[in-house]
Amino acid sequence: MTASRIPRMALAFAATAFAIPGIGHAADPYPSRPITMVVPFAAGGPTDVVARSVAAAMSKSLGQSVVVENRLGAGGTVSASYVAKAAPDGYTILIHHNGMATAPALYSKLPYKPLSDFSFVGQVADVPMTLLGRHDLPANTLPELVSYIQKNQNKVNLANAGLGAVSQLCGMLFQKAIGVELQTIPYQGTAPALTALLGGQVDVLCDQTTQTLPHIKAEKVKLYGVTTAQRIAALPNTPTLREGGLKDFEVKVWHGIYAPKGTPPAVIDKLDGALKAALKDPAVVSRMQELGAVIVPEDKQTPEGLRTWLASEIDKWSPIIKAAGVKAD
Ligand code: ASP
Repeated sequence: MTASRIPRMALAFAATAFAIPGIGHAADPYPSRPITMVVPFAAGGPTDVVARSVAAAMSKSLGQSVVVENRLGAGGTVSASYVAKAAPDGYTILIHHNGMATAPALYSKLPYKPLSDFSFVGQVADVPMTLLGRHDLPANTLPELVSYIQKNQNKVNLANAGLGAVSQLCGMLFQKAIGVELQTIPYQGTAPALTALLGGQVDVLCDQTTQTLPHIKAEKVKLYGVTTAQRIAALPNTPTLREGGLKDFEVKVWHGIYAPKGTPPAVIDKLDGALKAALKDPAVVSRMQELGAVIVPEDKQTPEGLRTWLASEIDKWSPIIKAAGVKAD
């Protein structure tokens, strides 16, 4: 063995030792090519906006692009089922919201099990919702909206992003709270639903501050309240729906990042490290502030933080959805 071959062999050994088992060529360190982050709702909407900000920052620490791909349909379940069946190699990941917890109660034939068909990366950020009406709706306050709806039940419709979307959950709770059933109009995300509200084609919509704040500020929509238990910093003078008389009303949107079940722990560690770095990135921090989103504490930005939270959300919402009698199939 010549002296020059020894270091080459040592290098080859080191590359193999530090490569992640089961990922591409043994000598390819993860990630060696772009990663796809699947988003379940329309481009330009609230989930997409959070995803793109975090994906761009994760790309920096991973040294590879994290490319957002919008796979629309069935309130987010199309995307979740696509990622559940993807190769568990860290190159296909999912960002999803509360829909991961509500789908099992809504869909009897759900083709994946949220708690057992995924590996968990971590939680991302929480976003409040606002209850909005089209700008020329005669009601100006929540009590006026409730009495308007009660008198015009057959004329008022409610937009949402499909069964499994948080806009659907929020709308369902709203209808229960005021004791009416409205015609609902599903879109493939609240980006198109908000466009329809702005165009006056639909009457009422529950949607995240991440996309509603500019339209609220420009007075292009009527604002009836925030869906969180407390008022929010971005809209300090806007009452909560609770303050407006809807007892115990609370919906906030949370986000988690998932990988297919069986993704190697070393890959999950890398993704989680990149998520944590992204959530400290000044570009993400200021973007989230501007959107009214709150980055979760670091102990939630972890696989266990997400898994525990998802389990508690499934336990919380399943009985509420079942009692409301809402079913997708
Ligand atoms: N805001 C949507 C929802 O209602 C999702 C989206 O379009 O991002 O769940």
